Amino acid sequence: MQRFPEETGWIEVICGSMFSGKTEELISRIRREIYARKQVRIFKPRTDDRYAVGAVVSHSSLELPCVAVDHAADILRLLDDDLSVVGIDECQFFGEELLPVVESLANRGLRVICAGLDQDYLGRPFDPMPHLMAVAEYVTKKLAVCMVCGNPANRSQRLTASESRVVIGADDAYEARCRRCFHPREAGDQPVLPMTSPPALAPAAPERP
Ligand code: ADP
Ligand code: MG
Ligand code: ZN
Repeated sequence: MQRFPEETGWIEVICGSMFSGKTEELISRIRREIYARKQVRIFKPRTDDRYAVGAVVSHSSLELPCVAVDHAADILRLLDDDLSVVGIDECQFFGEELLPVVESLANRGLRVICAGLDQDYLGRPFDPMPHLMAVAEYVTKKLAVCMVCGNPANRSQRLTASESRVVIGADDAYEARCRRCFHPREAGDQPVLPMTSPPALAPAAPERP
């Protein structure tokens, strides 16, 4: 059983690709706190309106009520005095302004659980997640299942041609892919490239007589 810090707040990060179970994991951790009769609040960026504005909803239809905010700083204005746990979903959409907010919450003694995509549709680190992972006490990396080959998947393959970093969507716009099957600039249903062989190792030096 995990022992949590006492007399202090801390930061937890749940990261991974789309469909890797980040929101499920966030909901599960928050539910346990609700059973423990802790005061909790979940926030998400208003940009993410895929299922509902007033709830975080996983792709497996688990859900919990949340507050949608326009800016990370709004979170600090919406805290009740007796709050002890804050969950934040889709952290990657808040940008760098999320960092001081999360630090401030943890420094006030709160458990802060941050879920978000660690890579964008091109496989680039998605700020501010790398920074959050660096300052967090606990980091959990989730993996989805590659929709092409079934391997563990850590990339989000965009299925549309848009080159905007933010395109809100679920399985209509993205699918989970492993390193081998991920093709960052491939749009739509183009054929998947075969695996390239790794470079051959240099022959071993002949043994000395
Ligand atoms: P995330 O928040 O990381 O996008 P969710 O927690 O919302 O993920 O959803 C995880 C659920 O998505 C899984 O439990 C499963 O039911 C469903 N799912 C759909 N596609 C996949 C996939 N390729 N790999 C794993 N789970 C998937
Ligand atoms: Mg999610
Ligand atoms: Zn694959």
